[in-house]
Amino acid sequence: MFEPEIEKMKPEAIAKLQNERLKKMMRYAYENVPFYKKKFKEANIEPDDIKSSEDMHKVPFTVKNDLRDHYPYGILAVPREDIVRFHSSSGTTGIPTVVGYTRKDLETWSRLMARTIACPGVKKGDIMQNIYGYGLFTGGLGFHYGAELLGVSVIPTSTGNTKRQLKIMKDMKTTVIACTPSYALYLSEAAIDEGYKPKEDFNLKYGLFGAEAWSEEARKKIQDNLGLGAYDCYGLSELYGPGVAMECQHQNGLHIWTDEFLVETIDPETGEVLEPGKRGELVFTMLTREAMPLLRYRTRDLATLSQEECECGRYHTRIMRVSGRSDDMLIIGGVNVFPSQIEEVLFKTPELGDQYQIYVDRKKLDRMTIKVELSPEAWVDKDLDKGALIKRILDELVSVIVIKPKIELLEPKTIERSVGKAVRVVDLRKS
Ligand SMILES: [Zn+2]
Repeated sequence: MFEPEIEKMKPEAIAKLQNERLKKMMRYAYENVPFYKKKFKEANIEPDDIKSSEDMHKVPFTVKNDLRDHYPYGILAVPREDIVRFHSSSGTTGIPTVVGYTRKDLETWSRLMARTIACPGVKKGDIMQNIYGYGLFTGGLGFHYGAELLGVSVIPTSTGNTKRQLKIMKDMKTTVIACTPSYALYLSEAAIDEGYKPKEDFNLKYGLFGAEAWSEEARKKIQDNLGLGAYDCYGLSELYGPGVAMECQHQNGLHIWTDEFLVETIDPETGEVLEPGKRGELVFTMLTREAMPLLRYRTRDLATLSQEECECGRYHTRIMRVSGRSDDMLIIGGVNVFPSQIEEVLFKTPELGDQYQIYVDRKKLDRMTIKVELSPEAWVDKDLDKGALIKRILDELVSVIVIKPKIELLEPKTIERSVGKAVRVVDLRKS
């Protein structure tokens, strides 16, 4: 553990620290951010009305559009001169959201990232190849400074140039890779194409995978292919970036760093706070950020929380796997479908490869087509009964997602590979 004095805190101690910080933060946001002063007045509350996490339901939500409405400098609580760095979303889905950091915010984020990287067992002496993008995206620099603080040797390769990534991985005996899970799958495929035997030629122990929702079956594939332990990281560019929650060595939910983030789950329709254990939308309140406080920020990510002690000794509330962003949820003929549910079924089928795409269009009714590559072995298997295979996949799928899509089996390596987040869904109804 990077900060055992905090990571081993008992639930009562965490709650006490949260409530102390919460009271201060309410006053701070009210006095320094006009946006929040206005919101408090509209809701008819004073900062002192919020004495503990129990009172949070009185505080209005903050949503992504609130940040967009304040483009470019956001809802800053400090003068612009005190900001030492900005990050920004790509803006592919609208006006970008810009986030500012003071020097103290960067220190806090680095500590959270050091905890995150250490959580599954990475320590000084490890060699981390950081394949997340460096730049406006928070992944690259977030992992970079966290790993340096932890004392890990960082190789800042950033994204792209897969051949060079593999050569460095072998030559420099990389023990940790940090990237998206879809790129990890692609790396394992490319390694075999380049003539490497991943388990023998590489020295990989840990994979720190985030920025995408991925299934348990994807985890198994990556672990089997690369011979490492694959761990899920969770974060949001609006809340520093990565480093909000992380899996430990037990791979049983992601520990949220609750000394810095107060988490709630709400009913996404009504906004009502749900009891722990009920699946809902994650909502975060940042407890110490100086530059840009966020109160009850709606993530649009759906998950359940667990407050039980973990075998690792941490009591920090766990996210029991993010099933997907509500934005990613497809509604097909009135039925809710998450791409990760489809992935789970495809990746469990041994005759299929690692790459698939889901197409949705509408003639009279919504139609879903899943294009999936066969594995190289299945592709050359003359005895393969494709009709029977498709029927088996459909039986499994229908039991999980209810609707019956069309399945197309493709030759290996026909779907375009991505170096960052994979394009898994093509929704032609939107164009
Ligand atoms: Zn744990």
